[in-house]
Amino acid sequence: MAVLLVEIMFIPKRIIFEKDALNYETGRNIYDKFKKEEQIEIISLTSNKLKQHIPGEDFYSQYREGKKTLVVGTKKSLKFQSCKPSAHYQLPLISGCIGQCEYCYLNTKLGDKPFIKVHVNVEEILNEAHKYIEERLPDITIFEGAATSDPIPVEPYTHSIERAIIFFGKNKNARFRFVTKYNDIDSLLELEHNGHTEIRFSINTSSIIDKYEHATASRDLRIEASIKAAKAGYPIGFLIAPVFIYNNWKEEYHDLLLKLSKELPKDLKNPITFEIISHRYTTTAKNIILQAFPKSELPMKEEERKFKYGQFGYGKYVYPKESIDDIKQFFMKEIDELFEEKEIKYII
Ligand code: SF4
Repeated sequence: MAVLLVEIMFIPKRIIFEKDALNYETGRNIYDKFKKEEQIEIISLTSNKLKQHIPGEDFYSQYREGKKTLVVGTKKSLKFQSCKPSAHYQLPLISGCIGQCEYCYLNTKLGDKPFIKVHVNVEEILNEAHKYIEERLPDITIFEGAATSDPIPVEPYTHSIERAIIFFGKNKNARFRFVTKYNDIDSLLELEHNGHTEIRFSINTSSIIDKYEHATASRDLRIEASIKAAKAGYPIGFLIAPVFIYNNWKEEYHDLLLKLSKELPKDLKNPITFEIISHRYTTTAKNIILQAFPKSELPMKEEERKFKYGQFGYGKYVYPKESIDDIKQFFMKEIDELFEEKEIKYII
C-alpha cells in the first residue's frame, strides 16, 4: 500500500512584528514574503503589549491561536541561559513551536505564551556565542538550539539554523545540537557543518505519535529525514520520548528500532546516540494539559504511578520501579542487538 508522506509547512495565521524587527534583513525578508498574503494578518507592534493581539478568552483558545502566531522580534538580553546537562548554553534563536504535542515541555515552560517567536538579530546572537566560546577555551563549548523550541518548522523563513550550523562548523572549539520532530531539513544537507552539529530526532511509535503529537511529522518522515542527515555526514541521535507502556508496546518499539537499524546507513563516522525517557508528569503539567486538551487520553492516573522528588524541588509522577526496569532492560537489549555503532546516553 502506498503511504502518503505529507510535509508539514507552517503558514501562520498572523505575524506580529516587534518594533525593531524590520531593521534586520531576516525580519524584512519575512515581511516581504507575507505582506501580500491576504489571509495572513500582519501586525506591527507599537508597544510591548504583544499578547493583546492574540485572540482567545480562555487558555484552550489562546493556546490554539498562539500556535498559529509568528512573532518576529529581536533577542534583547544577550545573556545566554545555561542548558545542563545536554549542553553548556541555550542558543536563543527561537522560542515556541507550531506542534501541539499533548505532553510538550513547552506547555509549562512557555505557559500562556505559546506563540512562535523568531529572533532576527542572528548575527548578534552568534557573535555573543563566540564570546562564550572564547571564555571557555581551550575547552569545547556546546550550544543547544532547541531548548525552548522546535526550530525546524520556521527554518524556511529564518535560515537561522543554517547560519548557526555554518558558524559552528568553522569553530573547532564549539559544537551545536538541536532536536526536532519535523523533517524539513533538506536546506541543511549541503552545509559545511564539519561534524560540529548533531541533529537529534525525537521519535516514537506511530500509535503514540498519531494519538498525542498533533501537527508534527509522521514517524516515517522523521526517519527519512534522519537518514538524509546521516548521509550528509551529521552526527545523529534519537530521543525516544516519552516511552509509554501500553498494549503491544514492546512489539511497536521493536518495530521502530528495527526499521531504524535496517534503513540507516551502516558506515557512519559517529555512533548513533540514544536518549530514552519514560513518561512522567507533574501536577502543574497535568493541569495545563487538561486545559489545552480536555479530552486527552494521556495516562495520568496518580494511583498508577510513583511520586518522585525531582532535582528542581518539585515532584513528578513516574512509572513504578518494576516498569522502569522493564523499559531499561528492553531498550538496552534491543539497541544492543540491532545497532553496531551506538551510544546509549541514558534510559530513565
Ligand atoms: S514538536 Fe516538540 S516542541 Fe513542538 S509541541 Fe511537540 S514536543 Fe513541543
